Amino acid sequence: MEDSYPVIIVGAGFAGVAAAKELGRKGIRVLLIDSNNYHQFQPLLYQVATSQIGVSAIARPLRAVFRRYKTVKVLTSKVDSVNAAERVITTADGRSLQADVLVIAVGAVPNFFNTPGAEEHAFPLYSVTDATKLGSGLTRLLDQADRNPDGSVDVVVVGGGPTGVETAGAMAENVKYVVSKYFSPELAARCRVHLVDMVPTVLNMFSAKSQSYATDHLKKVGVQLHMGQGVTEVRNDGVTLADGSSVPGQIVVWAGGLKAGDLIGGSGLTQGRGGRVDVKTDLTAPGVEGVYVIGDCANITDSTGAKLPQLGSVAQQAGKWAASNILADLKGESRAPFRYVDKGYMAMVGRGAAVAELGRKRIQLQGILAFLSWLLVHLALLSGLQQKIRALFSWLNGYILHSPAQVVVSGPIEKETPEQEPPGP
Ligand SMILES: Cc1cc2nc3c(=O)[nH]c(=O)nc-3n(C[C@H](O)[C@H](O)[C@H](O)COP(=O)(O)OP(=O)(O)OC[C@H]3O[C@@H](n4cnc5c(N)ncnc54)[C@H](O)[C@@H]3O)c2cc1C
Repeated sequence: MEDSYPVIIVGAGFAGVAAAKELGRKGIRVLLIDSNNYHQFQPLLYQVATSQIGVSAIARPLRAVFRRYKTVKVLTSKVDSVNAAERVITTADGRSLQADVLVIAVGAVPNFFNTPGAEEHAFPLYSVTDATKLGSGLTRLLDQADRNPDGSVDVVVVGGGPTGVETAGAMAENVKYVVSKYFSPELAARCRVHLVDMVPTVLNMFSAKSQSYATDHLKKVGVQLHMGQGVTEVRNDGVTLADGSSVPGQIVVWAGGLKAGDLIGGSGLTQGRGGRVDVKTDLTAPGVEGVYVIGDCANITDSTGAKLPQLGSVAQQAGKWAASNILADLKGESRAPFRYVDKGYMAMVGRGAAVAELGRKRIQLQGILAFLSWLLVHLALLSGLQQKIRALFSWLNGYILHSPAQVVVSGPIEKETPEQEPPGP
């Protein structure tokens, strides 16, 4: 027997939360389902992984987010399958739920592009769980190296986009300031951070000026750049590049791309680039009735014909827009094509160093101004006052005093880092 709901939203990321809030404000009954009981703020995951902020700054319980939304019911459950044509979903605990309108907002999963060893050995960075596992792995590796006078630490970050640059920059600064201070300058001298990408430059989508600024800063803080070489294999002790050379790394972080998850594959919806659904400009899925697909699991083209990237701002605006089209559906009015307000993009490179290209005109900022803008924008976007206060405190502590927010990262990690043997005689 199926339970029926006017609107079911699967996924409570930027897109799903924005849609649920908008519908909740208008008193529409919504069932919001996520496998986690919290909303996670992906743009700051790398700061959790590098101990710059704690998990509680970037994860907010969904029931707290929707406390004042009387018509939005939160359900913590993993959705196992979606039948888009029937608008029926089944959950891991065996429920079958039917929706008048179904909104699919399940985000993305890492795309390893069939690189041998990547799924087995690399650490992805797309969830709080990923970030804490990576943080634990790094801490464990530092402790191992500290026990061994000849031990070294090599971390390889694959992917020179914003996530890879932010992660590599933060790790290199941790080596420079935190490892020197909390372990020893000798251990810091034995730590290396490598950044690898098949394209010749970092931050491919940014201007040449921003790319050059980011490259200079990364080099300045000690990141070793291996650009223009794709990764052909990931091993438990490093990566092999297309020219046959090898980069050592007890930890390999994968920031190399995204694709839609299996849920989309099994939904009956036609998949386009990256396994995502090529939605119509009103954000509905083609070939079925009453199904919206938004955020990172959709290829979204706005009313001007521009193909939009997988970004938090696109997901959030699409969530809001889908909700207004659902309201139009309910009133029997026609839907409007999605109009995206392009606010530009930015990337943090390190302490006091960032790049920003703002608005449609791409006003360029580099250095301290971009850094402050990045902090302000991310503070404003974080969900919840407590989370904002925690993040602000951690940033002041970290950027001014060089104190990590989380010195203790414990617990088992799935991808064990190999214990280093002392060198033989
Ligand atoms: C490390 C990192 C840094 C980033 N930095 C930036 C940035 O600086 N600026 C920017 O604009 N964008 C940034 N992005 C991109 C941005 O975070 C994404 O575009 C955005 O999160 C997409 O929102 P979404 O709602 O589509 O998906 P998500 O935020 O991924 O949310 C999807 C939700 O669906 C849930 N879900 C998935 N499968 C199931 C299932 N089977 N059952 C139940 N629930 C499920 C997940 O638990 C999750 O809560 C970054 C992304 C990453 C990974």
